[in-house]
Amino acid sequence: MRLETDVLIVGAGGAGMYAALEAAASGASVILADRSLIGRGGATVMAMMTVSAAIGAQCPDHWEHHLADTLAAGYGLCDEGLSAILCEDAPKRILEMDAWKVGWAREDGHIKQAHAPGHDRPRCVYVDFLRTGPAVSKTLRHQLQNKSSIRRIGDLMIVDIAIEDGVACGATAIHLGTGEPVTIAAKAVVVATGGLTRLYRRNSGSFNMGGDGYALALRAGAELVDMEFVQFFPIGHLAPRLVGLDPIMWDPFRYKLGGILLNGEMQEFEQRYAVDSGRNDGKYVLTRDLATYAIMKEVEAGRGSPSGGAYLSFKHVPEAELRRAFGPVIDTLAKSGIDLTHNPIEVAPIAHYHMGGVKVNAAFESTVPNLFASGEAVGGANGANRLSGNAITEALVFGARAGRSAAAAARATNGRSTAQAFAPALDLLRRRKLSASVNPAALIGELQQIMMEKVGPFRTETTLDAAIAELDRLTRAIGNDPLSDGAPFDSVLLDWLDLRNMVAVAKSVAIAAHARRESRGSHQREDFPSLDPAWQFNQIVRWDDGKIELSRSAATKKAQELAGAPA
Ligand SMILES: Cc1cc2nc3c(=O)[nH]c(=O)nc-3n(C[C@H](O)[C@H](O)[C@H](O)COP(=O)(O)OP(=O)(O)OC[C@H]3O[C@@H](n4cnc5c(N)ncnc54)[C@H](O)[C@@H]3O)c2cc1C
Repeated sequence: MRLETDVLIVGAGGAGMYAALEAAASGASVILADRSLIGRGGATVMAMMTVSAAIGAQCPDHWEHHLADTLAAGYGLCDEGLSAILCEDAPKRILEMDAWKVGWAREDGHIKQAHAPGHDRPRCVYVDFLRTGPAVSKTLRHQLQNKSSIRRIGDLMIVDIAIEDGVACGATAIHLGTGEPVTIAAKAVVVATGGLTRLYRRNSGSFNMGGDGYALALRAGAELVDMEFVQFFPIGHLAPRLVGLDPIMWDPFRYKLGGILLNGEMQEFEQRYAVDSGRNDGKYVLTRDLATYAIMKEVEAGRGSPSGGAYLSFKHVPEAELRRAFGPVIDTLAKSGIDLTHNPIEVAPIAHYHMGGVKVNAAFESTVPNLFASGEAVGGANGANRLSGNAITEALVFGARAGRSAAAAARATNGRSTAQAFAPALDLLRRRKLSASVNPAALIGELQQIMMEKVGPFRTETTLDAAIAELDRLTRAIGNDPLSDGAPFDSVLLDWLDLRNMVAVAKSVAIAAHARRESRGSHQREDFPSLDPAWQFNQIVRWDDGKIELSRSAATKKAQELAGAPA
C-alpha cells in the first residue's frame, strides 16, 4: 500500500496528537500513525499524576521561575533554549486544554496547583483522582475527531524513515494486522514515539516504549543527545500485581502520609542512608535519589523483599486518613487484593523516563532536514534530570511547536519522494525468513536484564564494559535479515524489529554512560561518585554504518536567545 501526505507524525501520544492538531491548523494534510491504537498507546495515557505550568492560579508565578527550577534540576546540561520554550509555552497549552474541558482539578473557583518536589511553589495541575494522563489523552482524541485533514492510522509500526538527498521524505511501515508493508510519502516527518523504558526489565511503561524513535532517527542520520540520562523512579510498584493504576503512584502518598520503607527483615532502613539528605522531618526522610540507592543497597546486602525490592507500609495510618488521601483509588487497590491497613506493598526502582533523545533546534528539526521530533523523543530540555510534571508539559508544548514547524517545512517543499527512498526498508522486510533457531523475544528478555543489572541507576566501568560486550553479542545474534513466523500477525517479525531498535538504543545509552566518568543527575557512577565540572558538556551520538559514534558538544544555548522564538 502507498499513502501520501504533507506531514507524517509517528506516534499518537500527547506529543503526536498535539502535533497533528497544530499541523492541520496550519493547513497541512496529516497522517497520524501509531503502532498501537490512536491516543491509547505509550506513556501519556498511563501518566496519572501532575503537569507543570506557571499559570499562577494557586499563587503568583512566572515562566522564568519554572525555567529556573528546570535548569537547576538539569545539573547544568539543559539545552536552555528548549527549556525556555517548554516553560514559556506551558501556560498556553494548559489553558488551551482547560478550554477543551480536560477537567483540571479546581479549588475555590481556580485551577488547583500542587507543590511537587523540585518546584519552588505550587505549579502542577492534575485531574482527580489519578486521572491526569487518561483525561489528557481523551481530550486530544476528541479534538482529533472530525478533523478531515488528519488521517488516523493505528496498528501501523514505522520501520524506517525514508531519506532522499539527505532530506526526510516519508517512512516505510508494516501493518501489524496483515504483515503488509506500507509506504508513506510525506514532505515532513515528526517523530513522536516517546521514550525507551522498555529497555529495562523493571519499568513504568508499556510494550511500545522500546525507543523506536531514537533508532529511527539514528538510522536516518540524525544526532541524539544526552543518551546516558535515564530517570529511575525509586519506589515503582513491584508486588502484588496491580491492575489499572500508575506504577509510580506511591511517591506522593509516601510523603503525604509518611509511608515507611522496610527491608525484607521488616526493619526500617531509611535512617541508615539519610545522613546527607538534609531532610528528616519524620515523614519523608529520603530524597528520590537516596531512596533508589538505599533500596538497591539493601537488596544487594541480601535484605530485599521477596520480589527483590523493599516494603512500603501505610499500616500505621488510620483507615479514615487513608481513605481521605487515596479517595476512590482505595477501591481500585482492593480489586487487586491490596489492603493498605493490613499489608505493605513491595516497591523497587524502575526505569521511568528518558532525558536524552533526538537533538533538535528551536524549530524542533533534527540534524536531518524535514525530520522533526517532539515530546519525550526530544533530548536536551531537561538536561541530566527532569523536574516532576515537566514530561506531559513537554509532550504538549513540543508537540504543538513541532507540528507547526513540520507544516511550514511541508509548505516550503516541492514534490514528494520517489520509490528509491523506500527501497532499503522494503528490501529489509522482503528478506524476512522463517527461523526456529533464534527466538528474538527471548533475546529482548536478555537485553532488558543486561540493561537493568549493568546500565541501571548505579553504574561502574566494569558493569558498563560487560553490558557493551553483551549488547555486541546480541547484535550478532539477531543478524541482518528479519525473522518471521510466516503468519499475517507476525509476532516473530515484530520482536525482531523491536530488538533491532532496542539494541541500537541500548548501545547508545551504554556507550554514553561508559564515557561519562562522573556522577550527575540521573547518571550515577559508583566508581566516579562526584559531579565533575570538567564534564559540563553534552554527549552526542551518531550512527556510522552500524556503529555508535560519540562526540562532545559544549554548546548549550542561552535561554534568552530562544525564549519567545517564533512559534
Ligand atoms: C506510568 C507513567 C506515569 C507518568 N507520570 C507522569 C506525570 O505524572 N507527569 C509527567 O509530566 N509525566 C509523567 N510521565 C511521563 C510522561 O507521561 C511522558 O513523558 C509523556 O506522556 C510522553 O508523551 P509522548 O507523546 O512523547 O510519548 P507517548 O505518550 O509515550 O506516545 C508515544 C507513541 O508512539 C507510538 N510509537 C512508538 N514507536 C512507534 C513506531 N515505531 N511506529 C508507530 N508508533 C510508534 C507508541 O505506540 C505511543 O502511542 C509518566 C510516564 C509513565 C510511563
